[in-house]
Amino acid sequence: MSFDVSIISLFPEAFPGLLDVSILGRARAEGIWSLDVTDLRTFGLGKHRQVDEAPAGGGAGLVLRPDVAAAAIDSLERNDRPLIYLSPRGKRFDQAMAREFAAGPGLICFCGRFEGLDERVIEKRDMIEVSLGDFVLAGGEAAAQAVIESTVRLLPGVAGNKASLEDESFSNGLLEYPQYTLPRVWENEGTPEVLLSGDHGKIAEWRLNRSKLLTEARRVDLWAAYLNGQDLRASETDDEHD
Ligand code: SAH
Repeated sequence: MSFDVSIISLFPEAFPGLLDVSILGRARAEGIWSLDVTDLRTFGLGKHRQVDEAPAGGGAGLVLRPDVAAAAIDSLERNDRPLIYLSPRGKRFDQAMAREFAAGPGLICFCGRFEGLDERVIEKRDMIEVSLGDFVLAGGEAAAQAVIESTVRLLPGVAGNKASLEDESFSNGLLEYPQYTLPRVWENEGTPEVLLSGDHGKIAEWRLNRSKLLTEARRVDLWAAYLNGQDLRASETDDEHD
């Protein structure tokens, strides 16, 4: 069964874009996932296929009409897929959300433009607002590609090495440890001895330690959540002994 992704966008030429290179392109050719793009313009009104109007209440810019957006949405088979509206007001996308999406049947992504989308269609069609981060893009297309890329690479058979998915940043709530490769000495910098020792226990310990140091130094939010999780796990084991 394929993981089916549908896009609604005013700029269908932006797709597949990055979604066709490397492992994602290969996986799509193999039928692990599929992509179809609906041009919002084809649902526009009148001779000019108009999709937007001035905001009610005045102010700058244009807002995408709910009737036009809904016509595009309703033209697609939902098939229990979450309907995502890429939006800076949304829940911040993260690895946990990517995992959740990857466990489902696929995604429908609505890419906004201009000032965004009429609120009523967001509510009436149960759109899930998802944000890439605290910055404003010109449109949802780049955000949709980021969400789809990180979701699809988690599907079985897409990334060659399962272990690399388990080891990477955020998988255990920590940032990834520093990586090294050849040459052993580069611009007078050596490679940490422990990594050359062949002692896998020591290497794992060193990596976890470096992950912790890095997370604590760079991301107080992740670090606090990690410590909190450790406390919870510790108290659960305590309970078992009570
Ligand atoms: N006026 C809106 C921003 C509109 S930007 C506001 O202030 O909230 C135009 C479109 O770009 C949005 O409809 C959305 O689809 C997309 N977009 C912009 N920033 C984004 C972000 N951080 N994450 C996801 N989508 C974003």
